[in-house]
Amino acid sequence: MDDQGCPRCKTTKYRNPSLKLMVNVCGHTLCENCVEMLFVRGSGNCVQCDTPLRKSNFRVQLFEDPAVDKEVEIRKKVLKIYNKRDFDFPSLRDYNDYLEQVEDIVYNLTNNVDVENTKQRMEQYQRENRDVIQRNKAKLTREQEELEELLLLEQQGNEQRRLDTLQEEKRQLQAKRKNKQALLDELGQTVSLQPVARIEEALYQYRPLQIETYGPPVPELDQLGRHGYLNHVRAAMPQDTAGGYTSGLACHRAIQDAFSGMFPSKA
Ligand SMILES: [Zn+2]
Ligand SMILES: [Zn+2]
Repeated sequence: MDDQGCPRCKTTKYRNPSLKLMVNVCGHTLCENCVEMLFVRGSGNCVQCDTPLRKSNFRVQLFEDPAVDKEVEIRKKVLKIYNKRDFDFPSLRDYNDYLEQVEDIVYNLTNNVDVENTKQRMEQYQRENRDVIQRNKAKLTREQEELEELLLLEQQGNEQRRLDTLQEEKRQLQAKRKNKQALLDELGQTVSLQPVARIEEALYQYRPLQIETYGPPVPELDQLGRHGYLNHVRAAMPQDTAGGYTSGLACHRAIQDAFSGMFPSKA
């Protein structure tokens, strides 16, 4: 509802978004300012239904429909007296009947049906069940306390875990810093002011490869043609020579292989 507002001064939430609506036991709404004005002496009558109201019973309206606020308040009061639970009944059916009774009472009080009779029923119930009500109230308080205890333990656990994590992070950070310092120290020592060591190296000198084949000496590459060796190998095709290949190379290699190890060494 956009036109939620005070029935007396007609201010709406649309015109004044900070408007605070209050609701009292009869379920009728007034804005905070009107409550202050009309209930200066602490009590007065509802503008809409003339019910005598106490100023201290006004609550901030939580729901769009003030009747819901009224029902919530009434339900709270009724359940303080009707506080039995399933294990207080011999059967589920009995428990359900009881719940239905409670709903009837809440409905009657919320909707102003048979209010006097309903209140008498409640009072009678309260007299007859005084002990159970008291016992269940104590039990509820105890359960509430246990729940709070559990929550507290959980909170403490969480806090401890948080502290542990924090400590671990701190430890890791310190270790990291220490490593960094050690590295810097080490660098400082080696880099320092010592002159860069000179690496003395002999210049490379080519030495022809000496192969000991333990066989008769192989004719030199340039003598192969003269001695007629090349007559026995296929001449290189033009495309073979592109990479620097000559038929002499293959021939020389084949002779080296053939002569190698032909005579055992005398040594
Ligand atoms: Zn008002
Ligand atoms: Zn009213």
